[in-house]
Amino acid sequence: MPDFMSEESIPEFVQPGGFPVSVPNAIMLGIESSCDDTSIAVMKGDVVLSQFTAAQHIHSKYGGVVPEFASRAHQKHILPVLNGALERAGCALSDLNGIAYTRGPGLNGSLLVGSAFARSLAWSLNLPMWPVHHMRAHVLAHWISGGDAPAEPMMALTVSGGHTQLVDVSSPWDLNVVGTTLDDAAGEAFDKVAKMIGLPYPGGPEVNRLAQEGDRFAFEFTSPQVAGLDFSFSGLKTSVLRTLEKNKEGREKDLKWKKDVCASLQHTIVAILVSRLEKAADRFGRKAIAIQGGVSANSGLRSAIQELGARRGWKVHIPPFQYCTDNGAMIAMSGQFSSMKSKPGGLGDGPLPRWPMT
Ligand code: ADP
Ligand code: MG
Repeated sequence: MPDFMSEESIPEFVQPGGFPVSVPNAIMLGIESSCDDTSIAVMKGDVVLSQFTAAQHIHSKYGGVVPEFASRAHQKHILPVLNGALERAGCALSDLNGIAYTRGPGLNGSLLVGSAFARSLAWSLNLPMWPVHHMRAHVLAHWISGGDAPAEPMMALTVSGGHTQLVDVSSPWDLNVVGTTLDDAAGEAFDKVAKMIGLPYPGGPEVNRLAQEGDRFAFEFTSPQVAGLDFSFSGLKTSVLRTLEKNKEGREKDLKWKKDVCASLQHTIVAILVSRLEKAADRFGRKAIAIQGGVSANSGLRSAIQELGARRGWKVHIPPFQYCTDNGAMIAMSGQFSSMKSKPGGLGDGPLPRWPMT
């Protein structure tokens, strides 16, 4: 329990500022299938008993996710993934107290497989079902046991393949999007540039790996000028494309050149993300910051956020790697929070591929 709370001041689950000190001790299943990972976790309270994830390698052949292949692969994987998660957790279906699943946003076919599976399973076991918003779940991953649970309002930056959002978090139930990308997401910028220089999909992790040995001052890419707290990455993409056009001749096999492009790209993206996060935290008077989503696995971003926290005296929250990219545990965690405040969902809650966050 954070030391500023006293036992007497805490109502059943929530302390007065709106931050929970404990979630119900129920066993929650979390099912994630919004894009190209089938991931299922079993969670007791805020503790992950197991997490089993099946990645889909078929998309690398096409340089991006092919929706029809994604939903077929979810269909093939979902039952073995469930069995694997239950077995690793040492649980039977009869031990479960609730089932949380991603209702949206995401690819319609992928969501359809996971949500139909989750709702049928909950119905057949007579359990409450909890529809979860994928982007909220990325933020709620910070409460998964193992890290420092947030204990005060914070400014959180979600960076994934499809989204870049600044979220003001005043409690696990009060998330407000205060900035968003006007075009490409940060992850998309990594993936598209990676494709331009011939790296395999998804490009983000590969750019990260090569950037570690590259010269970040080798190229100067244009940073976008956007007012307020929004982001734009399409100008950066064009700037990289122009630079590469001038430089590319005969360079396809030049590893040093690729490393320099990766280091310069990563440096530029990280600088944009960190400066916006600092500006947003200042504007809302937050003394804690967080990053989450697939791109928060990036080592350059992780250290830049730590440096920002140290420089400003702010508390920093970064999830462990396995809860950065799409994962079942963050869905189960969200289900625990929903069960504290909302009514369960129903059998008719079909996928919402473009579900807005607020
Ligand atoms: P989604 O966008 O489907 O919600 P994720 O939250 O799992 O998926 O994020 C996937 C994105 O994260 C991809 O664009 C991928 O390239 C990017 N990514 C993953 N690891 C890294 C990394 N180490 N550095 C930069 N980007 C990364
Ligand atoms: Mg995601």
